[in-house]
Amino acid sequence: MLWDCSDLAHGRRPLALALVLALVGAPGPAGASGREAWLRATFPVEGFVGYTSAFGLRFHPVDGGVRPHYGLDIAAPLGSPVRNWWSGVLVEVLAGGGCGNGLVIRSGDYEHTYCHLAGSAGGSTYKSGSVQIEVGQRLRTGQTIAHVGMTGSTTGPHLHWGLRYRGAWLDPARVLRAMAASRRVQAPRMGSPPKVGSFQ
Ligand SMILES: [Zn+2]
Repeated sequence: MLWDCSDLAHGRRPLALALVLALVGAPGPAGASGREAWLRATFPVEGFVGYTSAFGLRFHPVDGGVRPHYGLDIAAPLGSPVRNWWSGVLVEVLAGGGCGNGLVIRSGDYEHTYCHLAGSAGGSTYKSGSVQIEVGQRLRTGQTIAHVGMTGSTTGPHLHWGLRYRGAWLDPARVLRAMAASRRVQAPRMGSPPKVGSFQ
């Protein structure tokens, strides 16, 4: 079965648009509000190439069906370090399925999910190169937690990055824009994805 990132939904629905629009003013994981809330966040991958698939309804790249995409796909070269967006606790290691090797990290009211990772995942352990992390482990902001791979359902190396706030999926691009407003990081530019393959 083809996987289109919606497997990660776990039955939860995205926030209503109005709530999503309010996100930029919402508290960050540290509880602060306003611009400062996002100052400490880290862009989740090194070697940024481009955004290849946005959050929301989309035409599936293979079968053309319209389905929701609960995350943001960020293209990066194979093996690029994946950085922990915000300090938190590793709550789940995913293995197999459309996500491939994946990590779920909880930071207060937020959960951030990383898919298609290199290395190996099994039980409660994820390993890639010098990285070895376990469920229950506390992870620092910016810590290298994984490397970009092609596990799961994907046709090119990218990080699928999902973000939930109190159980509801958010558009990660909005969080990246809020981070960009707090300090100078590259903000998402949608509409002209690079020609580096089709991603799921
Ligand atoms: Zn995706």
